Amino acid sequence: MLQLKNIKKDYVVAGLPIPALSGITLEFQKNEFVSILGASGSGKTTLLNIIGGLDRYTSGDLLVEGKSTKEFSNNDWDAYRNATIGFVFQTYNLISHLSVLDNVEMALRLSGVSSKERKERATKVLVEVGLADHIHKKPNQLSGGQMQRVAIARALVNNPKILLADEPSGALDSKTSIQILKLIKDISKDRLVIMVTHNTELAQNFSDRIVQLVDGRVVEDSRPVHIKKENLNQSKLLNKKTSMSYMTALKTSFKNLLTKKGRTLITAVAGSIGIIGIALVLSISSGMTNYVDDMQSDTLAGFPLTISSVVSTDAFADPAQRMGDLTSIDGSFTDEPIIYSYDEENNTTLHTNIVTDDFLDYLNQMDSELYNSISYTRAISLNIVAETSAGGYTKVVSSQSNNPFTSAGTVLNEIPNSPEFIQSQYDILDGVYPTAYNELVLIVDSQNQIDVSVLESLGISIEEDYTFSDFIGKTFKVIPNDLYYTSSGSTYIPETNYDMLYNSTEAITISIVGILRVSEDASTELLSSGIGYTTFLTDYMIDINLTSDIVVAQEASKTLNVLTGQPFNTQLTYDIVMRTIGGDSAPTGVQIYPVSFDSKDLIKDYLDAYNVGLDEVDSIIYTDLAETISSTISTLISTITIILAAFAGISLVVSSIMIGIITYVSVIERTKEIGIMRSLGARKKDISRIFNAETVLIGFTSGVLGVLIAMVLNIPLNMIINGLIGVTGFSTLTLTSSLSLIVLSTILTLVAGLIPSGIAARKDPVVALRTE
Ligand code: ADP
Ligand code: MG
Repeated sequence: MLQLKNIKKDYVVAGLPIPALSGITLEFQKNEFVSILGASGSGKTTLLNIIGGLDRYTSGDLLVEGKSTKEFSNNDWDAYRNATIGFVFQTYNLISHLSVLDNVEMALRLSGVSSKERKERATKVLVEVGLADHIHKKPNQLSGGQMQRVAIARALVNNPKILLADEPSGALDSKTSIQILKLIKDISKDRLVIMVTHNTELAQNFSDRIVQLVDGRVVEDSRPVHIKKENLNQSKLLNKKTSMSYMTALKTSFKNLLTKKGRTLITAVAGSIGIIGIALVLSISSGMTNYVDDMQSDTLAGFPLTISSVVSTDAFADPAQRMGDLTSIDGSFTDEPIIYSYDEENNTTLHTNIVTDDFLDYLNQMDSELYNSISYTRAISLNIVAETSAGGYTKVVSSQSNNPFTSAGTVLNEIPNSPEFIQSQYDILDGVYPTAYNELVLIVDSQNQIDVSVLESLGISIEEDYTFSDFIGKTFKVIPNDLYYTSSGSTYIPETNYDMLYNSTEAITISIVGILRVSEDASTELLSSGIGYTTFLTDYMIDINLTSDIVVAQEASKTLNVLTGQPFNTQLTYDIVMRTIGGDSAPTGVQIYPVSFDSKDLIKDYLDAYNVGLDEVDSIIYTDLAETISSTISTLISTITIILAAFAGISLVVSSIMIGIITYVSVIERTKEIGIMRSLGARKKDISRIFNAETVLIGFTSGVLGVLIAMVLNIPLNMIINGLIGVTGFSTLTLTSSLSLIVLSTILTLVAGLIPSGIAARKDPVVALRTE
């Protein structure tokens, strides 16, 4: 059954090996009751711990059913302790926070027995040792003899082949001692029992064999046995690995935490402070975001998605690459007397949107429920003449921009064909909104101002102020191509006799019918101040100019610019000139006015889908005006959130460290329990699992507590905010945030507890058992 071959054990004390066992050779049989007698300090406990696999021998060999243990791994030893060995100690070594039943079940939990079977088997042994009435008590509610019976039941519950008892009656009175020894004697009928004692009388009365130890040596053996060759089914004995489930670890830790409710609660509350902080920050920031969203959704929802002919795609460029570009230019000034040429187009990331018929078809197929209107811009310039206050005539510069929202610097601009949207952003100060080709509108800024340069180009003499009626009804003349350009050889020359042009019957009269000002609750000034004309005027003029002489001439000459007589170049292409003189009715820009924020997202998806599979040059890149406006505010909010969260995060770190310290204290307190668990076959992993489970439970409680407290704090906070800005339910913690915070708290405390739980796992079981 068991063979000890020249087992030696040295303890290293202050760097020097002190022998505790000096060459023990012994053999044990099945069904023997062996007593080991010896004075205190003779090495009895050391010998027993080595037999039980709790301690390692320094040299020699221990054979179990003929198998050497020299090559045993830690797992083999754990399995051996759990399945083959049952330990009974002088001081019972019960886990005080577990019930009698749970104490006995513990060995079975480690070997992964199902909960039903565990309960049955544990109850059965407890009945056998005479504790039927006490199974639900805690160890401290039992007498010494009863506690030792629990310990014996625990040692037997796995039905081990070997029971090791270290002075089992040492702490009991003589009457109880005899009862316990009778029980052990019974047990030895079907297993090997090795009992350490210094009570010679008890040893002689109960055991079959007495081995006498003096100073770590066997001096007498009353009935030595010699096993020839044992050939039992050894694999069956040793191959069963122990494993504690996470559930067991959690349950054990939970019960332990329940025994110190007060401390657990205080720890959890302290741990929750950081969580409360972050939860409040998140509540307020989500409140701010919602508030701003609500404020803006009314106005911003109508903002168009704009497709202009040229967009800067800097935002889309890979930042790393741009960093690379920057560093490649070393930024230093050159001393060389040389001037370099460079192509700006290669140094800026501009994308040209080419609005093709395909794309226009694609737009036409879009669900019309999604948008209020689509407005197209054509890049034609109008030839407009105004009568000056001084009685003369002047030509007014009109915009050729294809983006009605960025056409600063010109006096006459096309306004997009979306009256509802424009009127949602602008108030009509006087007159009406222009709805026909011959109607214009004056756009003033929020202070009712117009730039003097605009007034000058309109030929209006500069005065301090004007009345609305100075502008309403003011007329201009649009000059058709055939009137404006006169042919001169191969080129066409613009007419400069503005008096003649203005007073010609072919000139088209247009007049200002209203004055627009940006409304007070508009988010931004979309239209540049000056005079706006409708897209109907553009359509009207294209219609006339399409068949004009200059357009026909230009169509016939694809290589020469009829305005200059020069060949086309990269700056001035055929297409551009054609558009300028109104010979091309194809749109160069599009504005889509969505119905709502949600439909805007759908429109974006629809537009994105167009680019799938297209080359970079053919793709259409849109600008979301509202997003540009609202992203500034969002950036501000998230910056504030991050700063606040950083402060709250610091308190979270502090509380995590504190939980680490508390776990360490718990490890120190539970050292004995660690020893007991190890003696029952718990692996190092199982021990760390128990403490990790404890931190997980604390972290989880902290998280839940933190979230709940934050929710309660939100109530007065919302009352204050309601008083200040009149918004109810401003600060609210979302479900996602709540769950994330609980997870965060759990993970943080788990991490904080890893070091102490590692310390617990590495504790030497023998040392752990010796601590009180
Ligand atoms: P017994 O159980 O017979 O009283 P032990 O086996 O506990 O004796 O101890 C045997 C010897 O080994 C003693 O001299 C004791 O001081 C020493 N010893 C036991 N454990 C340790 C230890 N962890 N470190 C150093 N010396 C030890
Ligand atoms: Mg001892």
